[in-house]
Amino acid sequence: MQIYIHVPFCVRKCRYCSFYSKEPDPGEMDAYVEHVLREIRFQGQRLGRIPANTVFFGGGTPSLLTPSAINAMLEQLARFFSIANNAEISLEANPDSVLRPGMFAALLRCGVNRLSIGIQSLDDTLLRILGRPHNAAQGAKAVLEAHAAGFANVGADLIWAIPGQTPGNWLNELQYVCTRLKPEHLSCYGLTLEPGTALTEECARETLTMPSDDRQALMFMRGAEFLEEKGYLHYEISNFAKMGYQCRHNLGYWEGQEYLGFGPGATSTLQGRRWTNPPDMRRYFSAVHAGRTGEDAETLDLQAKLSELMMLRLRTSRGMRLKAYEELTGRSFFEDHQPLINLLHKNGLIRISNGYLRLTRNGMLVSNSIISRIFADTPALCARP
Ligand code: SF4
Repeated sequence: MQIYIHVPFCVRKCRYCSFYSKEPDPGEMDAYVEHVLREIRFQGQRLGRIPANTVFFGGGTPSLLTPSAINAMLEQLARFFSIANNAEISLEANPDSVLRPGMFAALLRCGVNRLSIGIQSLDDTLLRILGRPHNAAQGAKAVLEAHAAGFANVGADLIWAIPGQTPGNWLNELQYVCTRLKPEHLSCYGLTLEPGTALTEECARETLTMPSDDRQALMFMRGAEFLEEKGYLHYEISNFAKMGYQCRHNLGYWEGQEYLGFGPGATSTLQGRRWTNPPDMRRYFSAVHAGRTGEDAETLDLQAKLSELMMLRLRTSRGMRLKAYEELTGRSFFEDHQPLINLLHKNGLIRISNGYLRLTRNGMLVSNSIISRIFADTPALCARP
């Protein structure tokens, strides 16, 4: 089992972001921590001391919390769950907040052993377009100082396909990151325009323009090739790692492990049931007070399980185990999808080997449409006796 703690605070809203996050009101971070501690106790007592092998502080901006708050949550988890001795304990950090004096050393003392630092770009113009609360120099400094402080597992998060960015700029950034910053892990997400964000509105008004599809394809393909040349494994569509540094928490999620989430908006999937905490601070606080988190859990039906099997496993370089489809549905994947498989294979978008179906890099580029085409057969499949 894996544990996720959602920290919903940010110093301000980035211009592309549609996640639930907010600027903290006075005293709100303390109240948040107190409620997460309660929720951990409540779920620990309800579920028993179940074992967990990863803890992930995600957000939002977890590095806005004080080390003592992070420590209190980790101690509470150790009290109510059986956290493995070699657990991966990750924390997402923004450069501006993690560069506070003494922060890296304090995080190490708490037991955090993996940082994922949101540098996003090393170009100040692009960072301003994204509305990030830090500059490029702070991003680079955060990765270097994390290593210098003793972190052996540091990830850098980057964004490509930013308005104004070219494939050449992107490769230069990767070159700098690989040769100067040397993170163990890289997450490289293509920018998507989410409804209601400031960036989406600007693109709609045409004051900013996204790179063309061809340029975006070049950034993805060339970027992935470049990172592989530099010794990073392309282990998930948007994630690259030096050997042995794949994020165990995210890999577990993509491969279907159970997880328990704490904090507002956090989702849990445990024992075939799923629930999501209220994505709003006040409603979350009252649900915790009333001991109601998890009360509205829904049983995952075949369609939901099959959808996840395809959507999550096909994101990974290992791919989807074909037997898993058969175990879930009682049917053969080949018999259900033969014409489509032939077509995708002929176009070099999928490979099948050793009982796994996986997307090629060209396939990864159009993963959403491949997965939805495969999944289009599912309703009929589920309706069959
Ligand atoms: S720091 Fe992350 S979660 Fe917060 S507003 Fe920016 S993108 Fe969203």
